[in-house]
Amino acid sequence: MIGVGALTFFTTTFIKAPYGRYSTSKGWGPLLPARFAWFVMESPNLIAVLVIQIHYANPLCRAAPCNNVLLLLFSLHYLNRAVLYPLRMNRNASPMPASVTLLAFLYCCWNGLTQALSLGVVNALPAAHATSPQFLLGVCIFFLGAFINVHSDALLQALRHQPPGNKVGSHVPRAAYKIPRGGFFDLLGVSCANYTGEIIEWAGFAVACWSVPALAFALFTFCNIGTRARHHHQNYLDKFEDYPSNRKAVIPFLW
Ligand code: NDP
Repeated sequence: MIGVGALTFFTTTFIKAPYGRYSTSKGWGPLLPARFAWFVMESPNLIAVLVIQIHYANPLCRAAPCNNVLLLLFSLHYLNRAVLYPLRMNRNASPMPASVTLLAFLYCCWNGLTQALSLGVVNALPAAHATSPQFLLGVCIFFLGAFINVHSDALLQALRHQPPGNKVGSHVPRAAYKIPRGGFFDLLGVSCANYTGEIIEWAGFAVACWSVPALAFALFTFCNIGTRARHHHQNYLDKFEDYPSNRKAVIPFLW
């Protein structure tokens, strides 16, 4: 997964993943409604945890409090990403090419199974891990990242212009993008505070798990959305003359 992350970092530095503001059907297959695509892409993470817990869980992992807490945090994140986030999405969010949906679906099957197997079958964390500094600190970092991510996603979604009288299934014009202001966009001075939150979240998860699979996922997340944040940042600079000049893309003061 770390190798795939490095490859993703390299390719997405030059190619903008064609969804959201870069959404296009040219060469990437038919366009799917964003809400449906997000549900399909992200739900394997939840299904993997459920299947492993119901059918294959190691009794030692099941009895380990830290494993249960970490699986719960992972599942809560994906309950939001697969179900609540698409439900909150405006109907005129940009559609998702089928090929991107498929790639993300396959990645989520792989990652969901990796994390679910690691915490549900392979790696029973000792009871003492629950009071270790890395577990407590990691969980706090995870919650901080999750809060930044959800709060910033909500600010972005509120920016989306909703044409009046828009009905389900009706054709809607491509929405305009605005400068995100307030919240962690201003506080951290970054263009993509939602990505900053996601990166912090999985870094915290990796610290709390103290395992190679969780570290690989955190690195992959950084490689995948770090480069996308750079494209978004450039996109804002190109589009808005009055874009706040002190902002970085995703890492405050640095990058
Ligand atoms: P974006 O920031 O590109 O978009 C988020 C939502 O806000 C979309 O509905 C988008 O509309 C809308 N939006 C964004 N910017 C503006 C703006 N300036 N004005 C108006 N509307 C705006 O995020 P992604 O879609 O890439 O990702 C969504 C979530 O998924 C994030 O929380 C991200 O962290 C997470 N994610 C995690 C990954 C991982 O590897 N762990 C990978 C990818 C995403 P539109 O779609 O029409 O552009």
